[in-house]
Amino acid sequence: MRTKIVGTVFFLASFVHGISGLNAQNNEVVIQIDTLSDKVYMLTGQGGNIGIYVGEDYVFMIDDQFERLNKKIKAAISTLSNKPIGFLFNTHMHGDHTGGNASFNTLETTVVAHDNVRKRVQEREQKNMEEQKITTAYYKAMLPEVTFSDDITFFEGDETIMAFHVHNAHTDGDALVYFLTNNVLHMGDTYFAGRYPYIDLASGGSVDGLIQTQKKALMVINDETVIIPGHGRPSTKKELQAYVAMLEDIKAKVLKAIASDASIDEVKADASIAASYDASYGVGFIKPDVIRATFYTSLKKGLKLE
Ligand SMILES: [Zn+2]
Repeated sequence: MRTKIVGTVFFLASFVHGISGLNAQNNEVVIQIDTLSDKVYMLTGQGGNIGIYVGEDYVFMIDDQFERLNKKIKAAISTLSNKPIGFLFNTHMHGDHTGGNASFNTLETTVVAHDNVRKRVQEREQKNMEEQKITTAYYKAMLPEVTFSDDITFFEGDETIMAFHVHNAHTDGDALVYFLTNNVLHMGDTYFAGRYPYIDLASGGSVDGLIQTQKKALMVINDETVIIPGHGRPSTKKELQAYVAMLEDIKAKVLKAIASDASIDEVKADASIAASYDASYGVGFIKPDVIRATFYTSLKKGLKLE
């Protein structure tokens, strides 16, 4: 893998998923490019990892971070290709993956996402429009123009790009995108490399859905596949296997606690549950007590449904 840095920009930093404010500080953001195959690249700046495929006729782009970074991201893409961005695919609705939609949504670019992504982006941006934070034209440009319910396939040159919806994982609108020939899989936020996952229960995410999604990904890929996580560094099948094992171990322990009638506060306070993982996985956006509480809430809800 090759890494290069393109340009710099200064602005106020904000947290992943667009939560800004209190801890904002001056930060230098660089757009870093990782070369994953002959034609597929990963761009990292701030927010979700961007996937770029340079095809024969057009560029296929996955996710777009924040609006304020759009010029920087476009400059980085132009170092890879001058072809138009034919499609911009949103892996899910969160603002650090769809924030740049309006800036990239030109006549030559079609924005594609799962049905629920359009619904949730619509809700969020409608509110912004009502509060006069954005114009009607901007609102319209933020919305995916083509949606799908189960899967959608793109054929470009010798590449087949398969996008498929996975149920109630990180949100209720997640999709994985697999580049068959280049053997690269973009998992969106259904996989945070090296960090505890963020499972957005309020937007339809669930522990079981996330684990099932990762197992589904393992069935699609092989030892040579490069995985683009929603956040974190490019990964291998082996690393994803270890990650699933970690999630299943925590799930088993939290289920045991639920079976012995532990309350959410007890589980939240019980550092022994995932102690062996906390030092490596619990130092990111999602802290150890948060992951324990998320597992408890999601699994308890699952038990009630049975
Ligand atoms: Zn997300």
